[in-house]
Amino acid sequence: MSSYRTHSKSGLPIMYLQDHKQALWEKFSEEYPNGMRRTAFMTRLQGSRFVYQDNLGGLCSECNECGYESFASINTIIDTHVEDEFSKEELTQKLNSLRRYMRREYIKDLKITSSGTPAHKSCICHCLSHSFGICNLQHFEICNGCVELFHFFDLIKNHVDGELHELLDDYLKKLISWLGHHARKFYLNTHVQVNLDELDEDGAVIIVDYKMRILPHTARETKSQFFGKR
Ligand SMILES: [Zn+2]
Ligand SMILES: [Zn+2]
Ligand SMILES: [Zn+2]
Repeated sequence: MSSYRTHSKSGLPIMYLQDHKQALWEKFSEEYPNGMRRTAFMTRLQGSRFVYQDNLGGLCSECNECGYESFASINTIIDTHVEDEFSKEELTQKLNSLRRYMRREYIKDLKITSSGTPAHKSCICHCLSHSFGICNLQHFEICNGCVELFHFFDLIKNHVDGELHELLDDYLKKLISWLGHHARKFYLNTHVQVNLDELDEDGAVIIVDYKMRILPHTARETKSQFFGKR
């Protein structure tokens, strides 16, 4: 994610806060009981050079394109092409919980060992080891959360014209890439932490902003992938 921005007034880099200001204050005052006072601390954090992480949406082009834009387009399809009010409501609701799942819940079940090696999970969409192509264990299931992604597209296809199916397959593909993006982010973030934990007085951690690609593996092919094979 390229989030390098500078504060226009001071020209200094924007700092992203890891937590709410109150939580940061509590942590700070615990660690430095004789440090600066609360008011001074809060005043320092004020101003646009410090941005809470939650406001990061839109900075990452992958999240913007695969996440936000796809969801917006699918919403438009529901609005304009699904006639039955009940189904419209149901699809909108399912789409919202799908987005919540993908943004917040999905990464909670990813696993990396304490030494930073990607670990196996029985849900194929959650097996980081499989996404690196190094898993030789069986994946018997897709977990309840991940399977909703495929269920949603099956469901919406029942309600819209066949002409739109190919377009919907494209969105499914984008959302799968978005899951991959979250997995990648999780993997990289964990690695930074592992490296920091191993840091000794003579070492340094250098973070290079480059694009790493883990190709997504899925248990099911979309229709266009299937027909594209011939
Ligand atoms: Zn992103
Ligand atoms: Zn596996
Ligand atoms: Zn899963």
